[in-house]
Formats: sequence, structure tokens, C-alpha cells
Amino acid sequence: MPFTLHGVGVSRGIALGQAHIIERAELEIREFSISSAEIKDEVRRLREAVQQAKQDLRAVREQIPTTTAADIAAFIDTHLLMLEDSALTFDAERLIKKRHCNAEWALKLQRDALVKAFDEMDDPYLRTRKDDVDHVVARIQRILLNHAPLKHEIDGNRLAGMVVIADDLTPADTVLMQRNGVAAFVTRYGGATSHMSILARSLGIPGIVGAHGIRRYISENELLVVDGNEGVIVGDPDDATVSYYHAQQSERRRHVESLERLRTAETVTLDGIAIELHANVELPGDFTAARQVGASGVGLYRTEFLYMNRRNNPDEEEHFRAYRELIDTVEGMPVTIRTLDLGADKDFAGDGSRMDGANPALGLRAIRLSLTEPDLYWPQLRAIVRASAFGPVRLMIPMLSNVAEARGVVENIRTVQAELERRHVAFDPEMPIGAMIEVPAAAICADSFAQFLDFFSIGTNDLIQYTIAIDRVNDAVNHLYDPLHPAVLRLIAGTIDAGNAGGVPVAMCGEMAGDVRYTRLLLGLGLRQFSVHPSVLLEVKHIVTQTTVTDVEESARKAIAAADPKEFKSLLDTLL
Ligand code: PEP
Ligand code: MG
Repeated sequence: MPFTLHGVGVSRGIALGQAHIIERAELEIREFSISSAEIKDEVRRLREAVQQAKQDLRAVREQIPTTTAADIAAFIDTHLLMLEDSALTFDAERLIKKRHCNAEWALKLQRDALVKAFDEMDDPYLRTRKDDVDHVVARIQRILLNHAPLKHEIDGNRLAGMVVIADDLTPADTVLMQRNGVAAFVTRYGGATSHMSILARSLGIPGIVGAHGIRRYISENELLVVDGNEGVIVGDPDDATVSYYHAQQSERRRHVESLERLRTAETVTLDGIAIELHANVELPGDFTAARQVGASGVGLYRTEFLYMNRRNNPDEEEHFRAYRELIDTVEGMPVTIRTLDLGADKDFAGDGSRMDGANPALGLRAIRLSLTEPDLYWPQLRAIVRASAFGPVRLMIPMLSNVAEARGVVENIRTVQAELERRHVAFDPEMPIGAMIEVPAAAICADSFAQFLDFFSIGTNDLIQYTIAIDRVNDAVNHLYDPLHPAVLRLIAGTIDAGNAGGVPVAMCGEMAGDVRYTRLLLGLGLRQFSVHPSVLLEVKHIVTQTTVTDVEESARKAIAAADPKEFKSLLDTLL
């Protein structure tokens, strides 16, 4: 009889296939004491294992097809970087010398210390980074232990058409699975923002994570349906279930094929209103995917990712090089560079210092942090202004909460421009300066900001968190996170209205902009610029091209004005 299990769908699509269970045996790591005379050899043994691990990973990297999105190779590069210059191997050597212990044990101790630091972080994205530490450490330890066999290695020859079931998967596994035609994957652990999930989305492998019970109910070779859209796994499907999902698959294939035609089509509503569809990027390589789906620019470049996986901060030249790379990749399209949004749950320096305090999300974060740390702030400002000489750059300020802050940043930019002018360094004096509208105070006072800023972009991820007073990374209050809360919708509408009245274009770059359930509603509220993940851009475009704005405007406006929750809901239902 069919039964269902649930997890978090992280990569869309439906697949049917037999289960292939990957069981990774834990490596048995023991501590051995070594004498002072043996230390040199032990350090050499560690270094040789690290070299071997690098060679192995480079071999994996070379197997990645050139047609694959650039960010895939970047994930392997992250592991290579950890092997090359990291707290991991350097500190492991130090431990060998200090504790007189074997290399495997030193690596284990260093791994435990790093994982503890990651565990203490609130941000799910950062927490999943500990998986990278585990994967890299296990790779070196296996080499040190003469490639101790794992119970079931992933065998590429067995993957075609199968549904891989595992505790977790590495980026290298994900590439291997894709090359060997895997149907789908389900893992017990992991989050929607883990490298593996991001890769699966890029590679189009349907996938579900966090299916905790999967190993208890599924056995090898059992037929399964994986519905990555809904996060549902159906075991022992009967004929009716199989036909239902086959029909869903065909429907989806037809839908995706029809979306392909939209790549080069204009983004215009049925009543002729042009809509801008930009892409959110974290790494410059992400834009390759954005170009492929026909984005017309970068609406959000999250520069805090430049601070990831490292101990020191990037200097002005490094910022500048990253921005140039992005500008060159997008060839003349507008690029919106957001100044860093470190702090609170995004403490990439890894020392946890910026997470201090009772409510870090309300603390020294984003522009507030930049303004108090000149070493972080000024080099980035100079680099963005210099980059503006090479393409249509727009500078965006995150987490503004009052007009004085915004004025201060504009003045700082003018100071940088004057200094560059004195030094005869090129820049665009007309570079637009804009604000993330993500703090309710800024949304309410958007008219004041509109008087001296050039554009707005609504950051719904934070706007929702701060409006409804729910920590966006706290599981216990996740159920209250509601993009359709009337207060949120009123703030969005108010910001759009203030932008229109002040002649300031308003975009939205939070996740809500890329969720097709809300596209019609947002068009109805007057949104004309969306910045979304490349993987959903064509879907949003599809809805846009199917909507008549005048049809949805009235219901959207009435809904947000409705005092009666029932009326609110029934009006909203016509828009979703
Ligand atoms: C937002 O808050 O909606 C946003 C786009 O920024 P981030 O998710 O980086 O905080
Ligand atoms: Mg934000």
C-alpha cells in the first residue's frame, strides 16, 4: 500500500525510481602518542595526505562538463580552498606539535572545534558550512588511513535512474550523480541553503532534504516517487499513484518547454506594461545562469559572500576585482551592488563577535556595522565607486532605518568621488544610490528617503521578520512568517506608492519576488521590477505575461484596505 514521507523540497521536479541507499561508515579515528622525534614525519604525512586530497578533488573538478553552471566548480573550489589555506590543516599541524598526537586525531580535534563554532551560529546557511568541514576532513582522514573503505561508496555505475537515499551528500557526490543520470535524491539532513541543495537546483535534480524517517521505512531497490515540489516521498506506489505522477511529470515537462520560449521574449503584461526581471547573485559566476534565462540585470549582488570562508577581510583591490568581474560578465546590464550586510546571523568572519548581544538581528548589522567599522566600509565604498567607471553600477544600502543614515552614506560617497577626482581616477558621477527597504521604519518613511535617493529595493526577507517580530532563522516561530500579513502588504504598497510619488523606481529582491504565488498580487500592488533567483525567473516571467494588471489592481488595493479579515482573504484568493 502506498505511504508518504515528508521533507523539505529543495529542488523542484518529480522523479520515479528505485531507491539506492548510500551508507557511509564512520571512520574509526583513534589517538596515538608520538615522540618528539616523530613529529616531523607526522607533519609530513599530513601534508602528503592533503596534497593527495587536492589531487583527487582537482580530478573531480576536471570531470565537470564545461556546459555546467560555473558555480558548480566553485563549490569544489571551496573544498580545494579549505585544503590550501585554512584553519583546518594549519591548526592540525600545530596540534600534532603541541599534543604529540597522530595526524588523524589532530584533524579530528580541529574538525570538532570548527563544527562547534558553526553549531553556535543561528544562520542556517552558515550552519550547513560545517558539512564542508566534515567532507574535507573525512577525505584527508581516509587517505591517512590508507583509503579505509566506506561501507557503500557511491558507485557511479549504479546511479542511472535511481533515487539516491543518504544521510547527506557532498558537492562532489552531486556532480557524480548528475553525470551518471540519477533520478532524484533524498537526504536525512541538510537545509535548503546547503551547497548540495544549491547545486541540485542548478543541475535540475529533484531533491528533498530533512526527511528524517527515510532510512526506517525505505529499503534498497524499492520503487519511490520523489516530488521535489512538495517535499513528498511516496513509497510502494500503486498503479494509480504512478499514473498520477507520470501525468504530473508530463505536465511539468510541457510547462518547462513552454517556458523556454520565454527566454528571449519581452517581459510585458497582457495590457502592455513592461516589467523588469533582474537576478539576485551571490557569486559572480551565478550570473551565467541569469544570462541564460534572459535576466535584464543584477538586482542584488550580496557582497558579504566575499567575506566567506576566510579569516581576513577583502581589501579595496579584491572588492574592485570582484565587481569588475561581475560587470564584465553582464556586459552593459545594470549591476546593483549592495554594501555588505554582515552582522547578526551573517558573521562570515567566523569569530562570532558580531553576534554578541541579546537580539543580534536588531543589533549592529549591515550599514550600521559598516558605519562603525571604517576598515570594512571605506575600501568597499571606494571599490564600488571605482567600478562604476566600467559599467552601469548602482550602489545599494542595506538595513537603513533613518534618513540621517542614508544622508551620511550619500555624503561619504561624495567624499570618495571627490578624492578619486583629485587623483584622476575614473568613476561615474551619476551612479545611482539606492536603499534596501527592509526595516518597517524605512518603509513607513519611504517618502522622505525618496527625496534624495535614486531607487528602492524591498527586502521582504527582513521586512517580514521585522514587521511581524519573528526571527527569520528561529524554527519555533517559523509558522508566523507570513508574506501575506496585511501589515506586510500595506508596507509594500506604501513603499511602491512613495516611490511613484517621488519618481523613484521600486524593485523587490526578497524571496517573495521569486515566489510565483505572489506575482499577480505584487503586480496588482504596483510592483514593476522583480529581482529573483535565476532558476525561477522564467516562471515569474510566465505569470507576468499572463496577467492583465488592470484586472488585479483593484482587488489588490481593496484587499490591503479591508478591515474584515474574511473580506481580505476572499479578495486575496482571487489574486493568488
Ligand atoms: C531581504 O532581506 O529580503 C534581502 C533580500 O536581503 P537578505 O536576504 O540578504 O537579508
Ligand atoms: Mg535583508
